[in-house]
Amino acid sequence: MARKKVVVIGGGWAGSAAALSAAKQGAEVTLLERADMLLGTGLVGGIFRNNGRFTAAEEAIAMGGGELFERMDACTIHKDFEFPGHQHASLYASRAIEPLVVQALEDYGVDVRTMTRASEVELNGKRMVAVMTGKDAGAERFEADAFVETTGTTASPANCNRYGNGCCMCILRCHTFGTRVSIAGKAGIAEMTGKKDGHMGAMSGACEILKETMDPELVAQLNRTGVLIVPIPKNDQPGSAKLDAKCCQQYNLPEYAANLVILDNGEAKLMSPFFPLHQLRSIPGFKRARYADPYSGGIGNSMRYFGMSPRNDALKVEGLENVFCGGEKAGLLVGHTEAIVTGMLAGYNAARAAFGEEPLVLPDSLAIGDAIKHVREEMQTEKGLGYKYTFSGSVYFERMKQRGSYLMDVAEIKRRVAAAGLTDVFGWRAGVTAKACCVQ
Ligand SMILES: Cc1cc2nc3c(=O)[nH]c(=O)nc-3n(C[C@H](O)[C@H](O)[C@H](O)COP(=O)(O)OP(=O)(O)OC[C@H]3O[C@@H](n4cnc5c(N)ncnc54)[C@H](O)[C@@H]3O)c2cc1C
Repeated sequence: MARKKVVVIGGGWAGSAAALSAAKQGAEVTLLERADMLLGTGLVGGIFRNNGRFTAAEEAIAMGGGELFERMDACTIHKDFEFPGHQHASLYASRAIEPLVVQALEDYGVDVRTMTRASEVELNGKRMVAVMTGKDAGAERFEADAFVETTGTTASPANCNRYGNGCCMCILRCHTFGTRVSIAGKAGIAEMTGKKDGHMGAMSGACEILKETMDPELVAQLNRTGVLIVPIPKNDQPGSAKLDAKCCQQYNLPEYAANLVILDNGEAKLMSPFFPLHQLRSIPGFKRARYADPYSGGIGNSMRYFGMSPRNDALKVEGLENVFCGGEKAGLLVGHTEAIVTGMLAGYNAARAAFGEEPLVLPDSLAIGDAIKHVREEMQTEKGLGYKYTFSGSVYFERMKQRGSYLMDVAEIKRRVAAAGLTDVFGWRAGVTAKACCVQ
């Protein structure tokens, strides 16, 4: 089989999954990442397997796309625990996970290029021929037979100023590495922005506090149980407007207004988009508190859900023949699990397109297939653009429960995958081997 090239732009969870998936199909894969580390917003996350994310992860594993969930599981510091509104959650160590993902990509023969920000595109009609870095970065050119865009949906500092509370200096470090660049947008595709009640985008819903600045007894409890629930004095409780503005609607519950809900992802992950530092310091145990991410977590958080691509259920970008998308770029999907499962499909279909094969659409008998279809349909409506969708809560988890697709029985999940004829579909293509993705 002749080698075909796939270039993945954006090395968050979605791009990492897309790169692995395309490599397993025998494509020569290059992954471009703007920053000096992979995982994007996943560098400050950690929650997975909570509520319906368990089902989605197990579906992906049954379909042969489990590598990244295995890495998360290997890096888990709390497993099978509960916090308000969420059951059987796991938390990976957000400071430790990234090198494991880099290693997995290298083991699978992916050429990982960090500090490589694609900012120009070359087209031949509706086909993308190459992406390039800017002139100031050497105008390096990356040609491919098919592309996956997984650049996420974060705002630039200008949009954080305009639609949020200003640049709060988050992990994305736009001032250092340059802002997100939308590749489909550069190719002339009209993109979509999430909006609710006239507000554009949505604010990220968690910030991290340095543990060493908290009371040691609270930290000991957090380390032991994975979760801390600390009542907030009545006057300091956030109003419903602040909770409504969050992109993580699954946490828009009364418990999160009345308490500091803090999870242990290595740092102390405060489940609030921001919380004024002077108010935080007035709560017993937090007198010396400091934010680790974003640095200005007392003021605001990153804004997201700008520039999503119109796409079909194979995750091909509408209007371009050989460009696929995954993660937040593919719609109002929130979460690492959501990014991985869509990235997995986008990378697979990009490789198939490179080899001249028909793309795969996952059936709606699977939670993943239904979510991809449902989010696309919902995003056609003004109301649908106001929601965020995740397997872990809010509107989409309700839908899973109603449709009977929220399953905790791994054998039953495997049975449904088998019934759809998809067991191991994202596994290695016959004749392609793991090390350096050699095509035999
Ligand atoms: C503070 C915070 C906490 C969160 N906590 C959780 C959690 O606990 N659990 C959970 O499931 N979800 C969590 N989320 C949400 C979750 O992180 C995201 O929904 C998901 O990881 C998005 O993945 P992605 O790959 O689509 O996008 P991103 O993570 O945004 O990754 C996109 C990547 O593309 C790169 N990029 C952009 N443009 C270019 C370009 N032109 N060239 C090259 N590279 C480019 C970026 O640098 C970035 O690395 C959290 C989000 C935030 C912000």
